[in-house]
Amino acid sequence: MKVLKFGGTSVGSVENILNVKKIVEAIDEPVIVVVSALGGITDQLLLTSKLASQGDMSYRNELDEITDRHLNLIKGVVPEIDQNIAIQQTTTMLEELENILRGIYLIRDLSQKTSDMIVSYGERLSSYIISRVIKDSKLYDARLFIKTIKQFDKHIVDFELTNSLIEETFKPLPKVALVPGFISSSKVNGDITNLGRGGSDYTASILAATLNASILEIWTDVDGFMTADPRVIRSAYVIDRLSFIEAMELCNFGAKVIYPPTIYPVYHKNIPILIRNTFNPDAPGTFISNEPYAGANKATIRGISSIDNTCLVTVQGLGMVGVIGVNKRIFRALADNGISVFMVSQASSENNTTFAIKNEEADLAVRVLNEEFAMERAQGEINDMVIKKDLATVAIVGEFMKNTPGIAGKLFGTLGRAGISVIACAQGASEINISFVIKKKYLRKALNSIHDSFFLSEYKMLNLFIIGVGTVGGHLLEQIELQQQKLMKQNGVKLNVVGIADINKILIRREGLDLKTCIQDLYSSGIDTSTELIIDEILQMNIFNSVFVDCTASDDIAGLYETLLNNNISVVAANKIAASSVYKKYALLKETARKRGIKFLFETNVGAGLPIINTMNNLINSGDRIIKLEAVLSGTLNFIFNTISEDITLSRAIKMAVDARYAEPDPRIDLSGTDVIRKLVILAREAGCEVEQNDVITNLIIPSTYFEGSIEDFWKHIPELDAAFEENRKKLAANGKRLRFVASMHNGVCRFGPVEIDSRHPFYELEGSNNIIMISTERYRDYPMIIKGYGAGAEVTAAGVFADIISIANIR
Ligand code: ADP
Ligand code: ASP
Ligand code: MG
Repeated sequence: MKVLKFGGTSVGSVENILNVKKIVEAIDEPVIVVVSALGGITDQLLLTSKLASQGDMSYRNELDEITDRHLNLIKGVVPEIDQNIAIQQTTTMLEELENILRGIYLIRDLSQKTSDMIVSYGERLSSYIISRVIKDSKLYDARLFIKTIKQFDKHIVDFELTNSLIEETFKPLPKVALVPGFISSSKVNGDITNLGRGGSDYTASILAATLNASILEIWTDVDGFMTADPRVIRSAYVIDRLSFIEAMELCNFGAKVIYPPTIYPVYHKNIPILIRNTFNPDAPGTFISNEPYAGANKATIRGISSIDNTCLVTVQGLGMVGVIGVNKRIFRALADNGISVFMVSQASSENNTTFAIKNEEADLAVRVLNEEFAMERAQGEINDMVIKKDLATVAIVGEFMKNTPGIAGKLFGTLGRAGISVIACAQGASEINISFVIKKKYLRKALNSIHDSFFLSEYKMLNLFIIGVGTVGGHLLEQIELQQQKLMKQNGVKLNVVGIADINKILIRREGLDLKTCIQDLYSSGIDTSTELIIDEILQMNIFNSVFVDCTASDDIAGLYETLLNNNISVVAANKIAASSVYKKYALLKETARKRGIKFLFETNVGAGLPIINTMNNLINSGDRIIKLEAVLSGTLNFIFNTISEDITLSRAIKMAVDARYAEPDPRIDLSGTDVIRKLVILAREAGCEVEQNDVITNLIIPSTYFEGSIEDFWKHIPELDAAFEENRKKLAANGKRLRFVASMHNGVCRFGPVEIDSRHPFYELEGSNNIIMISTERYRDYPMIIKGYGAGAEVTAAGVFADIISIANIR
């Protein structure tokens, strides 16, 4: 004999009930079918009675909906010849319900007893209708054999009576017995009671255990018990087998797929549970039995579950240390008041005991404990109770965690990297469950990062927000798209772009954007944005392993880095503003990233994609010291001075640089050295010097008066310098020399200006807009290290940004 239980969604519609019929009628042996109310009806009945009790007439609309749903269902599933009688019976029940609700509406009062009576109609109606659909089925009334007694404000099953009534009731077992789940009645007075929300699973388990079923099948709307709640973790997957203990631990901690008390009755009789999907009957489901089973991949943890309704209460005081019986008094006081404790933690110093309860029980707990320890509190031996509300508890569960070192390390390391602080934790010596408490707002992030870390270890996910989708950002998106598959296969890294924004719009999608179309999507379906909105959206998303990529040149965006880093979001900046702003700011950002174990990277701030900052860091970290830096860092200036010739004047060369997009549209930014000074300051800082932009000694070849006024003034006056420049160039050429704009740092002193270079110098042959840097260190003293190559261009800059992102992916 088997017991099958079908949940609310499984019996929620015509199509679904026909599925159930097919499944049940295909079974050869006798079966007991336990059914829930139609999906959503229990909630709707509770709402209707609440409205009625508040004198709100709209309860009638709800009741009409309930009525229509059941009557329509009958028309869809009950054979035509039986329809009239089915409608008649159902209408009778619905009329009873209507009378009760009218009574509540009139007296404006709703007792627990009446509420229990009202919700019972959900299962009574559904079981009746389904009994009319399944061939040869016999309908039973669960109130006649599931008996409860009251304990505090809960109804608990009286097993002695229930077991004997079940045995009696099902002595001749019909082919198909149809039983409403959830509902029961009081042993004492026969009042209608129930087994608590989700209680149909429990009804089925009690029947299976008492009647020694071969199996208990729970048919629901997912393919089985999953590694985590699939509504929160999209990548959760079905666990093929679980032990009773593992299932119990996971359900007790919020895995809604089975109502927690369900496991006990069948566990004691060693009757396995099979979780199956009514909508996908071919899926194998999850088999829960006595045997621990590691599965093919020997997963050490099997599942993660959570409860978001958590309050921590701490009893603390020096008077507790070494005193016997304090814990006994705490838990007795709680038990006497019906308060259930689901996690306990006590440090070995014994100076405090912390335990977790539901938020709604917190005030009562504080009151009874303050009373219990009134004397000790008066004497100052125990402090007033401390409570923390709005927390969440997470548990990781697995029988094979036992004797496997490193699980707790991995768990807490993962949380730390996600910037989530653990408020309390507990692990029993059975080593099957590690539970911990965090702030409720971090729950989703915690679940995602732990799931990723323990279950999806074949690749690591990095979530990217890319701000600025112009030339650099655009190329970056293209490059990521091209590399995505390869990175996943070869490096085990999945780059997931979860948000993009430009100055006007933002587009955010937690599951990842389609990189082929995301820029068009941004324009068509992005929402209007602002700097504040960008940060709000990102923080609200609360996503783990995330990187903010700044491909703008915006002051406002650079202003966000501190908040981002403080929320454990790494920052990769092509934008130079933050790293070159006041030293204090730069140092704070670096320090914040270091403390939080995340990254603030800006390799492309100097020399675009050239590995300059990274190389300097490697030198310094391996014990070298940078003595001197000399560099040509402006591709624009280099282009201009390479282009000036007998035929091409200074002013024309500047124009050519602008036209070729080497220079900014306003070339004064390049010519005035602003950009190079920023780069030099960043380099000097990375070399260990505390410098500001003002500290750079600058010698501009173009007098500063040319930079005042409008851009038109600049273009008008700049030809005045052409002749002098040409003369100077000729003179230098005659001596075998060239002019280069060199940025340098020597023993902490930074300079920028024109330098005459002869043909033996490595800077002499610097083509086009290239950059070059010479690094002299203690190790590279006589022959400095030289890095040279394209120092500008969107493509190489994007590649440099990409390299920074990859380097974050590689830290674990
Ligand atoms: P039923 O109405 O069939 O009793 P429930 O809604 O009570 O169904 O339980 C099934 C739901 O539980 C699933 O749809 C899923 O969203 C949720 N759920 C939460 N945690 C888990 C988990 N670990 N595995 C599977 N489902 C889970
Ligand atoms: N109908 C009840 C509820 O919604 C019982 C159940 O579905 O298991 O809680
Ligand atoms: Mg359920």
